[in-house]
This record gives sequence, structure tokens and C-alpha cells, in this order.
Amino acid sequence: MAWFLNHYECLRCKSKWTDQWSCLCDDDCPHCGARQMSPHLAEELTTLIERDGRDFVVRWSPETAESEPDYRELGRFPTREQALAFLSADGY
Ligand SMILES: [Zn+2]
Repeated sequence: MAWFLNHYECLRCKSKWTDQWSCLCDDDCPHCGARQMSPHLAEELTTLIERDGRDFVVRWSPETAESEPDYRELGRFPTREQALAFLSADGY
């Protein structure tokens, strides 16, 4: 399952927030309670690269993930460049 960081802006009170979902879901405004705001921007987080100590860890959210991204570790690399090369080579 793809995993997304959705960016919302409330049409009523103009506040902005982000939330993580497995789809481009509507969300309720956490400030004024306005219902079903649609995301205006979504970043895909299905794969990500995280710093862990001296390593760069490539993580991937599998198809089975639903309410949590359930990241699996695909590999560790000494540099971000190698981690990016791994991701692009494998087509994730
Ligand atoms: Zn609002």
C-alpha cells in the first residue's frame, strides 16, 4: 500500500495541517472541526530514507499496510547517495 503525507488547508479557518494516510483521504480540521477537507498536496512516503546513527536506512511500506505504514527495512548504506541509487535501481 502506498503511504502518503497529506497536506490540508481548512477552507473555513485557513489553518494548515498534515496527516499520514494510506490514501488521499479527506480529513476534519483539527482547529475548527470543519468536515471533510481534501488534501491539496500529497507526498508519497511509500519508500523513505532515514538516518540511523551512521547509516542511511531504506524503508518501504508493503502492500499489506493499512492503518500503519508498517515499514520494512530494505537495506543500510553508508551514504544517502548509495541509498538513493539502491532505490532507483530497484524501481521502488
Ligand atoms: Zn478549520
